[in-house]
Amino acid sequence: MAHLLFKDVNKVYPNGYHAVHDFNMEINDGEFICLVGDSGCGKSTTLRMIAGLEDITSGEFYIDGKLANQMTSRERGIAMVFQSYALYPHLTVYENLAFGLTLEGIDADIIEEKVQATAKILGLTEYLERFPRNLSGGQCQRVAVGRALIRKVNIFLMDEPLSNLDAKQRVTMRSEIKQIHRSVGATTIYVTHDQTEAMTMSDRIVVMKSGGYVQQIGTPYELYFHPKNLFVAGFIGEPPMNFLKGKVVKGKFVNDAGMSFDLKPVVNDVKSIEGKDVVFAFRPEAIKLANGGKAGKDEYLIESNVDLTELLGDTTNVYANVGDVNVILKVNPHDAPKMGDKFVFCVPYKAAYIYDKETEEAIPSDIARQ
Ligand code: ADP
Repeated sequence: MAHLLFKDVNKVYPNGYHAVHDFNMEINDGEFICLVGDSGCGKSTTLRMIAGLEDITSGEFYIDGKLANQMTSRERGIAMVFQSYALYPHLTVYENLAFGLTLEGIDADIIEEKVQATAKILGLTEYLERFPRNLSGGQCQRVAVGRALIRKVNIFLMDEPLSNLDAKQRVTMRSEIKQIHRSVGATTIYVTHDQTEAMTMSDRIVVMKSGGYVQQIGTPYELYFHPKNLFVAGFIGEPPMNFLKGKVVKGKFVNDAGMSFDLKPVVNDVKSIEGKDVVFAFRPEAIKLANGGKAGKDEYLIESNVDLTELLGDTTNVYANVGDVNVILKVNPHDAPKMGDKFVFCVPYKAAYIYDKETEEAIPSDIARQ
């Protein structure tokens, strides 16, 4: 296990591109951290700086209290799993697993013991004599994880390890990787562009935005219930949060669609946002049906027109418009409206988020979200 500390870590590539800006974070022993964000936001660059595959342009990076900027990859005690499994095609699973240990000149007896133990953890025992071409994508990824696992390391780095797998295999491998993490306990940093992977696997998530800017660091719960800006609000959650633009007039959210919502219950200091352009946000799954077309206690009422519905089985996605803004709503299939219907729904106060349109930051609110 290892404790990691980043102080104002920056990466500027030789061509002058500033790929990571002021990365600051402390990672505790044994934590599972996901770096998540759209393609090109600097996730792999950050991971490669941790691995020692890229120089850190400025700032400090510590492993267990020791400055690691200049350490070699080997000195850092890391193992890395890549998106392309990077298996040797001409070697069997056994030989692929044993490869690193053989290079280090470790005794054949010990290698045998370690390969068998690793294969057992990963369910690969019966495939040890096979070549990679005779394995499924999921099995190849397990061998790649096994190669990292077999070396006794303190830090596991994974760069989109599941992106070559189909949807079903991804779900299986997600829980396998979590279980391996639980049994091995190595500090793990996992890069993905998939917010569901990040939400389901992480102890904490780092949300990054293009240009290499960290937006928020927090537990999946914190990011889902307390997104601190519009970017995180829109990134975490599937389908994404709905955003309605408007203005604060006399303490109310008003807009062209005729809404007029008292904001006092949902922000701490409504006076401080008087006259501001704001965004009223709510999650598709947080809405309630309007009983008799009316808002209940502590709810806002919204009228929409239904464009399209999608039955998923356990739930129906309703694509609707509010004024000229498209929204997505999740409803029980038995309550789902039809295409072309008028659909009136409620947003409970506790599920309403107000953002400053200009700064994109959340307006402070102490409302209990549960
Ligand atoms: P992500 O992993 O989030 O998709 P990367 O860390 O790979 O993003 O890349 C971040 C940004 O840095 C991208 O805009 C990419 O084009 C740029 N970049 C990556 N490698 C280099 C390089 N060697 N030289 C210049 N720019 C690079």
